[in-house]
Formats: sequence, C-alpha cells, structure tokens
Amino acid sequence: MSTSVADKRRNGLRLKAVVDREKSKVIFIEADSDFVDVLLSFLTIPIGTAITLAQKQLVSTGMGCVINVHTSVKNMDLQYLHFQSEAGKIMLLSPCTEAASYCEKLKLKIDNADHTEKVFCCSGSESDCTRGTYKLLSPYKDVLCKCGSPMNLEMFLKKSLSEQHMGGFVNEKTKFLVTDELQVIPLSTAANLSLSAKHGVTDDSFIEEIVFDVRANEILKLLFCSVVTNSPLTEILMKHIDVPPLNCLSLRDEKIFFKSAKAVKSTTDREGNNITVKLMFSKYKNIVCYAEANKDFVNLLFSFLTVPLNYMAKNLSDVSFRGCIHHLYKSAQDLGERFFKSQSHKSIPVNPCLPYGFSYGSDLLGIGKASHPIYYYAYNSNIIYPGGYYVEPLLTNDKSLICSSRYEGSVPLKVIGSTSDNTFSNGNDGGIVSVPTTMFIVTDSLTISLPVLACPFSRN
Ligand SMILES: [Zn+2]
Repeated sequence: MSTSVADKRRNGLRLKAVVDREKSKVIFIEADSDFVDVLLSFLTIPIGTAITLAQKQLVSTGMGCVINVHTSVKNMDLQYLHFQSEAGKIMLLSPCTEAASYCEKLKLKIDNADHTEKVFCCSGSESDCTRGTYKLLSPYKDVLCKCGSPMNLEMFLKKSLSEQHMGGFVNEKTKFLVTDELQVIPLSTAANLSLSAKHGVTDDSFIEEIVFDVRANEILKLLFCSVVTNSPLTEILMKHIDVPPLNCLSLRDEKIFFKSAKAVKSTTDREGNNITVKLMFSKYKNIVCYAEANKDFVNLLFSFLTVPLNYMAKNLSDVSFRGCIHHLYKSAQDLGERFFKSQSHKSIPVNPCLPYGFSYGSDLLGIGKASHPIYYYAYNSNIIYPGGYYVEPLLTNDKSLICSSRYEGSVPLKVIGSTSDNTFSNGNDGGIVSVPTTMFIVTDSLTISLPVLACPFSRN
C-alpha cells in the first residue's frame, strides 16, 4: 500500500482513507503530522469555544444542554456579571488558552480567532493609559479598560524565539494510522495488518483506498462527531451526515459534568463551603421543574464553558458516553514522548488546563490553571526618532527582544481578565457572577436566568 498521505491543499487537507466498500466504513486513515495535530488540538478546545465556533459556522454540535449555559451567558444582563461590556463575555464564550500558541500554525484551523499574535491595548489617552496608568492589554478586542475606554488599539505581539517555533504537537516526519474511533497509532505494517484483521477484512476485494479533501467545516463537524459517535470518520467522510444529537443532559441525568465533579445536589466549593440548590420537583410528572440557586451554583455551571475537551475525555471514559474522543485522548497519553516535538507538546493535549484568567472550578474539578506570561510594552516618547522615522511601540513576552538603544523605556503589562488583573475576582471567588445575594432560576435543561424572566408561575 502506498504511504504517501495528507497531501496539503490550500485551505484543506488531503486524506487517504482505507475503507471497507461493502460496509461503507472507514477502517483507517494514513495520516501525517498535519492531520494528527488537528485531531490533538480538539482536546485543548474549551467547551464554550467549541459551541461558539459551531454557532458561527452553523454546525450542529450535538452537545446537549450545555449549549443552554452558553446561551444563558449571552442573554444575561451585564449588571449580574463581572464583565464591564458585552464584548467582555467573549472571555468566557471563547476564552484564550495556553494551547493557542501550539495551534496557531495548524495546517487546517477551525478557530481563526488569533489570540496569540494580535492583542489589544487601551485606546484612551493615546499611549498614556497603557504605559502609565492602568498598564493593561487584552487578547480580546473591545473589552473595556479600567479607564472606561475600549481596548481596541491593535498590536502585534513579538514572541520569544522558542514560542515562534512552537506550532503543532507531533514530529513532522512521523506517519500515523488513525482509526474510525480516533485511535492514533504510529504507522507500521504490523499495525496496518492488525487493524485489517480486527475489522474482519479477509477479502481484499472489499478494500479500497479513497482520497478525501477535507476543509475546515468538515473538521469542525468531525470535532463534534467525536463527542457523540463512535465512528466519526465514517460519518463525516462516507455518510456526509450532520452531527447527530446527544440526548439533552439535565439535572436528572447527573451523568456528564456532575459525576465528573463528584458533586451533585450539595457540593463543596474551594473554601469547603456547601453549594446548595433548592429543587422544584413535580411529584406528578416525576421531574425536576427548575432549581433555585445562588451565584456559587451558577458560577459552577458557567465554569463548564471553560473546561477543555481533554478533561471530558480523560474523566468520562468510565461513564456511559457515546463519543470516542476518549480514544483520541488515550492515544495521546500512550504515544511515546519521542513522537512529540517535546515534553510540553505532549503535555498540552494530555493535561487538562483552564483557559488563561479562569480558576473557578479548578479545585472542585481537579483541573490545572494557566498563567499568562509577562508582557512588556517598550516605548519611545519622542514619536519621531532622532534619525527622522517613527518608532512603533513594541509588545513582547521576551524582554531580550527590546533593543535599549531604540526604546526609551519599557513597562510590564497585566492582561485584562487575568487573575492578577482581578477583573473576575471582585468577590475574590474567581467566579463570573457579580451579585452575591441574587437567586437564579436554573431549568432542567440548564437555562439560567433571573426568577422574573424564567418562571412566571413562581411563587409570589
Ligand atoms: Zn485605559
């Protein structure tokens, strides 16, 4: 069998699949590092980002009721949240992650948000606020600076040399086999024969090689299929189906998130306090109508949007779970370090980590936190350099890149929304909800709102 694989195409990837023509099923794909890097990037995507991407590209997610949590954030009035503007909600709905630097050079990107090279500074008072007053930068456009002006002064981030060569996860020269269940195995004749035997392929006449050109939209569908089916490659490449629905998770099911958090009706936050939820239960229908919950429970639900898919894949393989993304996770875990570019390139898809600036749920869910690197803003107050040309300010995370003869000075900047910036932590709980005493209504399908809007039949 030929081993040339994944011929790169502009805006797409060319994949060579070995299929069982009789069963119309993909047995495996011969893949190079480009496709495997794209698959491993799935593991690093926060649930909120996945839903945002699907909604932008009109792709069905099949992800059940967590979509209602996402919609609830979009619909909630700002007065109940720590965000200062609607633009700030993007910090939760499509958060910036440590993995972004590893994913920015993927051959096929499903997320075009560039949180890694393009950042934003305060547009107020020229550069005074950035270098003198609040000293903030933002990966997200139009969020409000503490001075009240929008952060929309676009700046290019000059990265450290090591970061400039960070892209992708696995070694470029290695070839892999990817099964229909998203197991990733280094290519070898033995692996090839073993997979054929496992799938009962005894007659070569049923086997066929088919070349597929896949584009970003199909890769996005593949992502969601990996969460809800056991044969995503067959579904997308052979059947061209949209993503099948996942039954709506609910407060009754307690299957996905609650079980993984080992916490249900009365759980414990990071200070050891109980989070209690009052359930309104219909004895007649034997269902939960809705729950009354305070900000702790709502913060917990909102924090699900920040949880990356590798957390689900790592923790949910032992519960009834229709998808196969845990096979992808296990493959990343089992692949030897020699197949990766470095130890950190293996660690990013394997070790779940919250996006930058988020900590809520970290202790409860047992998931790591990420800290932004320190960024430096180098400036020259003589706008016109003595030589007669304009000196652009420089933004970098590597102080050694600042040429002292060119710039008058430099200041470290804090990232807005980060733990050190304190944007989310007015109450010092790291949560999103800003009102300590308001009770929220949480429906059985995880729609969160205020009592007057959600529950016209509630008690007076
Ligand atoms: Zn400002």
